[in-house]
Amino acid sequence: MLKDDLMIKENQRLKAAYAELEKFSHTIAHDLKNPLAVIKSYAEILEYNTSLDDKARAHVKKIWSNSVKMNSLINEILKYSKLGIENVTYAVIKMEPMLTELHEELTLSLKVTNLHFNIKGTPDIYGDPTMILQVFTNLLSNAIKYSAKAEMPEVFVDGRDDGTEIIYSIADNGIGIDPSAYSKIFELFTRLHIAREFDGSGVGLAIVKRLVEKHKGRIWLESEVRKGTIFYVAFPKA
Ligand code: ADP
Repeated sequence: MLKDDLMIKENQRLKAAYAELEKFSHTIAHDLKNPLAVIKSYAEILEYNTSLDDKARAHVKKIWSNSVKMNSLINEILKYSKLGIENVTYAVIKMEPMLTELHEELTLSLKVTNLHFNIKGTPDIYGDPTMILQVFTNLLSNAIKYSAKAEMPEVFVDGRDDGTEIIYSIADNGIGIDPSAYSKIFELFTRLHIAREFDGSGVGLAIVKRLVEKHKGRIWLESEVRKGTIFYVAFPKA
């Protein structure tokens, strides 16, 4: 009995600490955005100041571009911290049209022309349509982005029903991930050294993991450096 009471208390304490942390990161992100907008505006004004020489103008440009980058990082933190309070609204999601559309949108926005993209099994997923779209958008854009410099970039998506779960794999033949980094890449702001020449914020997979876990699902990967990566996501059936 005493043990049960302790467990309930500890649970409540953890829940309160978690809510506090969510609120804190949300506030920080909002409070950081205002001064940053001021820095960005002054950098824009300075850039057109004719009394600046080329070197000074290049420095101002760096201030401007880094403030733009920081603004998008703050937006990502906001997105991530908001996830904690969002509820999952379940529906049956038709995966075939979602994946086909995603392929079209992403190849356009990431400007890839020589990608071989294949979709095989497309079983429906029972989940929150917006959240599931976000999961696949992140995993597919990573697969396309990190294989874009391969001689013949290939991305292969396959889904199957194993009786208790719907399991999707997203495979690419890109730069790969060292096994020592498998758990690290799901942490906020982690970017691997090998990925530095590609744009990114290191937030996508942290968001994906959180969304998958909100659905009581699982995510894992297999990879080989310079050969490619397969991400797996599994969602419980309805
Ligand atoms: P990013 O914005 O950097 O892509 P993510 O959180 O989506 O952030 O991914 C974290 C890191 O995991 C990436 O910076 C990269 O090092 C690695 N990564 C993710 N997906 C892949 C992939 N398909 N192939 C190789 N590396 C990947």
